Amino acid sequence: MNASLNPSINKNETAVARVKLLIGGEWVDSQTNEWHDIINPATQEVLAQVPFATESELNAAVAAAEQAFKTWRLTPVGARMRIMLKLQALIREHSKRIAVVLSAEQGKTIADAEGDIFRGLEVVEHACSIGTLQMGEFAENVAGGVDTYTLRQPIGVCAGITPFNFPAMIPLWMFPMAIACGNTFVLKPSEQDPLSTMLLVELAVEAGVPAGVLNVVHGGKQVVDGICTHKEIKAVSFVGSTAVGTHVYNLAGQHGKRVQSMMGAKNHAVVLPDANREQTLNALVGAGFGAAGQRCMATSVVVLVGAAKQWLPDLKALAQKLKVNAGSEAGTDVGPVISKRAKERVLGLIESGIREGAKLELDGRNVSVPGFEDGNFIGPTLFSGVTTEMQIYTQEIFGPVLVVMEVDTLDQAIALVNANPYGNGTGLFTQSGAAARKFQSEIDVGQVGINIPIPVPVPSFSFTGSRGSKLGDLGPYGKQVVQFYTQTKTVTSRWFDDDSVNDGVNTTINLR
Ligand code: NAD
Repeated sequence: MNASLNPSINKNETAVARVKLLIGGEWVDSQTNEWHDIINPATQEVLAQVPFATESELNAAVAAAEQAFKTWRLTPVGARMRIMLKLQALIREHSKRIAVVLSAEQGKTIADAEGDIFRGLEVVEHACSIGTLQMGEFAENVAGGVDTYTLRQPIGVCAGITPFNFPAMIPLWMFPMAIACGNTFVLKPSEQDPLSTMLLVELAVEAGVPAGVLNVVHGGKQVVDGICTHKEIKAVSFVGSTAVGTHVYNLAGQHGKRVQSMMGAKNHAVVLPDANREQTLNALVGAGFGAAGQRCMATSVVVLVGAAKQWLPDLKALAQKLKVNAGSEAGTDVGPVISKRAKERVLGLIESGIREGAKLELDGRNVSVPGFEDGNFIGPTLFSGVTTEMQIYTQEIFGPVLVVMEVDTLDQAIALVNANPYGNGTGLFTQSGAAARKFQSEIDVGQVGINIPIPVPVPSFSFTGSRGSKLGDLGPYGKQVVQFYTQTKTVTSRWFDDDSVNDGVNTTINLR
């Protein structure tokens, strides 16, 4: 990667490039003493270093956003839309270049990196419709000569905190809709892979987002806590692990902010014996092991119902065929996990599964990738005989590990899924419309796929994970996020004709 060509990267470095902050339209070298390496998970090469911003740098970013809000909130909706139109065109144009950087810092395959960018691009495309999305309502003659209407006004400085697993899509869930609504924004990308996020931010600046409307600070807990407690920040969007998301939700909530936290998951795929066998097995393996299982909507539990139990050997055979390699290499199915620490954690969970009595059908622990011996690789791993008490069932593994459970009936499968605390996604595989209708009605999970393994809604809908996977009422993107990023003001008005009759003092609550 030729990082030195980008304004978001420090060009004066002799050794490792350093990522900048974006404050008030300026690319700023952080004055911090704390720098973290951004590491290619397939090679351990240090791609660049990211600063953990100081308190005064966060304050400067928020102050810039506060100042910019004064004019941005009054900018005509058409002007905001046109910036989004330009941004979507630029992302489309630069998608392949950004995908290479994303794959290098995150580990996923180039094709999947392009998918990561594309799913975010769809949100930017949707933001181009903000003119209609942000419209208020109007009711004429709610009383004699009285009209009532609503304004959907921006709320001020908003902030977003993003995870490592989708460094393009998730930042794009947040800042385009927030600023299209007339807010200003402070983004805190994942410290593990901020380079591709910064390339998108560069494109936002190029598209004409004015100085101070979008700001970026990097960091970890200290910066995140600073965001959650800063008195000028009105709303916080968080996507990441359940532990951090709960902390962010509580802390920002205690400081009077609107908060949405999208968190961890355990996504069950329920397979009925009448399902299309080949399509279902392809879907399970793709959704279980794609992106090395590091998707919040990855299939992590397969529930084989009745005679579908006989499909286990085929599932294993298909998983075994997947090619583990660096994301940059052609033909790769499964790349490395993000860090050595993440790999240790996943290996620890695999060992717990063996210890607790699950049957290890496919063991990906000792995979070796020629040419990438230092990579954080784990091969596809499959457990059967899993019970609800085992850690491999109770914990989000976030690696290429699929656990298989067996039940006798659809009712039992529904009860199993509903007893799990998470509610991000689930799927049913069947050719029966009646079974599908029963499942979608009775299942207590916010996003349901019918013969669709990863049912992430397109941006004209909203992301609607539920229960333990989400805190806050309103989800990212779609109509819900327009509500999240605006406040409704309701105006009730009466205009008098010059010749209107004096009808006296009204001491009641009724409109006359
Ligand atoms: P993470 O919680 O470790 O990090 C998320 C963000 O929080 C990062 O920006 C990080 O810098 C910051 N952070 C980390 N530790 C912190 C702390 N102690 N205090 C305050 N901030 C802290 O998550 P991750 O590992 O980057 O991402 C993976 C997780 O995200 C998984 O659990 C996955 O399910 C979840 N996720 C959920 C969704 C969803 O929509 N529900 C989408 C993507 C990822």
